[in-house]
Amino acid sequence: MAHDEPSKSAPQTKLVIRNIGLLLSGDLAHPILDADTVVAAGDRITAVGKQQDVDTSGATVTIDAKGTALAPGLIDSHVHPVCGDWTPRQNQLGWIDSYLHGGVTTMISAGEVHTPGRPKDIVGLKAMAIFAQRAFHAFRPSGVKIYAGAPVLEHGMVEEDFKELAAAGVKILGEVGLGSVKDGQTARQMVSWARKYGIQSTIHTGGPSIPGSSLIDKDMVLETDADVIGHVNGGHTALPDDQITALCVRSTRALEIVHNGNERAGLLTLRTAKELNQLDRVILGTDSPAGSGVQPLGIVRMISLLSSLGELPAEVAICLATGNTAKMRNLDCGLIAPGREASFVLMDKAQHSAGKNLLDSIQKGDLPGIGMVIIDGAVSAHRSRNTPPATIVPQVVNS
Ligand SMILES: [Zn+2]
Repeated sequence: MAHDEPSKSAPQTKLVIRNIGLLLSGDLAHPILDADTVVAAGDRITAVGKQQDVDTSGATVTIDAKGTALAPGLIDSHVHPVCGDWTPRQNQLGWIDSYLHGGVTTMISAGEVHTPGRPKDIVGLKAMAIFAQRAFHAFRPSGVKIYAGAPVLEHGMVEEDFKELAAAGVKILGEVGLGSVKDGQTARQMVSWARKYGIQSTIHTGGPSIPGSSLIDKDMVLETDADVIGHVNGGHTALPDDQITALCVRSTRALEIVHNGNERAGLLTLRTAKELNQLDRVILGTDSPAGSGVQPLGIVRMISLLSSLGELPAEVAICLATGNTAKMRNLDCGLIAPGREASFVLMDKAQHSAGKNLLDSIQKGDLPGIGMVIIDGAVSAHRSRNTPPATIVPQVVNS
């Protein structure tokens, strides 16, 4: 069979997940697929359909989903990693492994700003960004993919710095406003240099997060025009309602709602985006680790919050943490479709939830029970140690 395989030296694994009771695509246009089987070769999805219509032969691993739900692995659009699976912010080890047990398979750094002694001179900040990009590319805690190496803007940076960072593999900026650049004119210039070289940008929005950080209001957000309006619901202090709605109406950039923000402002953002028929701009993050701590269940809590209080169907809320974020962040995960990354979360209604089924339980404000997490076609976690227990958990039937 090696002859049939694409140009890969190692034999590929073939994963078959069958008996899926509810297939959540991550795609706002079609959040539920009429399918019960997913097949992956190596780290890619190769087929999605009814069991009788897809080739399930030659599986190296078969999983019986036992009628539970499958969704793309969740994406946390806003984290502050430092090094390895350690955060100095609340001095915690193993925090990323805990998020895996909350269904998160991909994280995006909004700046490694908690690094003790973080260099603020330009050669130092560039070196740190390249180090973080390299280190998290090479080291995936419990399999979780961390896109890191996100320098924050400091005065004195010139176009050549962004060109050099891009050439070295840096693809994202840390939150604009966390460094010394706090005026819209300078930020706009640097963000446009970054964009020219393919580096995506995010801006801090709202009041200061901790002593030493500062206010960024709607005028600076609009002038800077970063690709992602980071924590539009504040991190934690939100802008006044009229400024949040102005950001929704006057910008076309991504609207990032975070767990460690103002929940009422998050619901206002959701409602406004819905009214504008621009739900595709809404993406979810935790903005953690932070003063509010480490939230292993932050993304599923956001899904339940927005679904229950924001009156959003649960299958749509899940798209905000999967397909929407993947599209805004140019990632090839986040959707259940051939060719996409084979990273999945399998969920069921939590035991004793009042909901009729998984989706109804989320719409009633409960958290889903996570039964299994798969990254790049390999099982990374079985029954979650952090969510309420799933009523039914999937089972590996051969391997
Ligand atoms: Zn921030």
